[in-house]
Amino acid sequence: MKFNIALLKGDGIGPEIVESACAVLDRIGEKYGHGFTYTPYLMGGCAIDACGEPLPQETIDGCLASDSVLLGAVGGPKWDSLPGHLRPEKGLLGIRAALGLYTNIRPARLYDSLAAESPLRADIAARGIDLVIFRELIGGIYFGERGRSGDGMTAYDTEKYSAYEIERIAHAAFRAARLRRGKVTSIDKANVLESSRLWRETVHRVAEQYPDVKCEDMLVDNAAMQLVKNPSQFDVVVTSNIFGDILSDEASQVTGSIGLLPSASVGDSTRGLYEPIHGSAPDIAGTGKANPIATILSAAMMLRYAFSLETEAKAIEAAVDAVLREGFRTADILGASHAAPLSCPEMTEKILERI
Ligand code: NAD
Repeated sequence: MKFNIALLKGDGIGPEIVESACAVLDRIGEKYGHGFTYTPYLMGGCAIDACGEPLPQETIDGCLASDSVLLGAVGGPKWDSLPGHLRPEKGLLGIRAALGLYTNIRPARLYDSLAAESPLRADIAARGIDLVIFRELIGGIYFGERGRSGDGMTAYDTEKYSAYEIERIAHAAFRAARLRRGKVTSIDKANVLESSRLWRETVHRVAEQYPDVKCEDMLVDNAAMQLVKNPSQFDVVVTSNIFGDILSDEASQVTGSIGLLPSASVGDSTRGLYEPIHGSAPDIAGTGKANPIATILSAAMMLRYAFSLETEAKAIEAAVDAVLREGFRTADILGASHAAPLSCPEMTEKILERI
């Protein structure tokens, strides 16, 4: 099969890690008989430098015409003093909205070989972490009515959800659970918030269509504790924009390294935006120290969710597992290991050899 991928390499380490992910996709293409074509577009600081804006129309059009989008990362100190509407991150919010990406999918997994890097107690880490958070991305309090009243010393933000917005992400979560361990935990604050009560009712209604998937509710304050106390209980988590924002950062930290975690943002079409959860790491850009694994695993998520190539996605994930088990490390995941750290191209080569 043939797929057109729009590349948003971005800034800092972005171009280095995207190059690694493309090398891995090409190897998958050779092995399984697929053709991946890449078209680069500008977004972020590099777009500001070239065209005076973080998200040129040509980039939006190119992404809309593609089968899927792979993003490195944007931003850096060079653009930090620019006004808000001209910041590189504005490009990121703009492209998510332009592509209608309402679900952010963030897996968090603790690799056995890296358990020592987890800040969790050893006996808790030993039970393992393998969960995925489905965070609603374009609704809720971040998009509700907000303002100030009176003398400006009173402020409000509105958490607002429609049943339709909840249903579409709940379906995505239940479908994913079917391909995993068959459990969805829906996180809300239904003991206090009316919007959470609608969230809970709606999730229960959707759950009736998936009798093979176990569905449970959890209050967000308890969920924050459980992620640290007993994270192995979670399989698929579905939650609102603000709760997902906070819990997905917590979940990513309990696994140890920011350089390992991928993400996907998807909407109604199969096209999505796939990117590592980390930023552009300007402190190590150009040094070859970037860990390419989060971006390579984001490419695996693209194969799974955008192109329905499950076997190929698993082949990438197995190759990453293998290199970590064999003790290969980039500098960010060296920990107490005495291994010599691999550069970004060297780590990429090790993964290519194992596909
Ligand atoms: P960051 O994630 O870029 O870096 C935090 C630390 O982690 C740094 O020490 C960095 O060297 C390290 N790190 C990150 N990714 C790594 C990798 N793949 N391999 C090895 N080490 C890695 O976060 P920051 O420093 O807060 O932000 C830097 C810039 O990135 C800022 O301009 C910020 O706005 C931007 N940012 C962009 C995105 C995005 O594009 N999605 C996300 C977060 C931050």
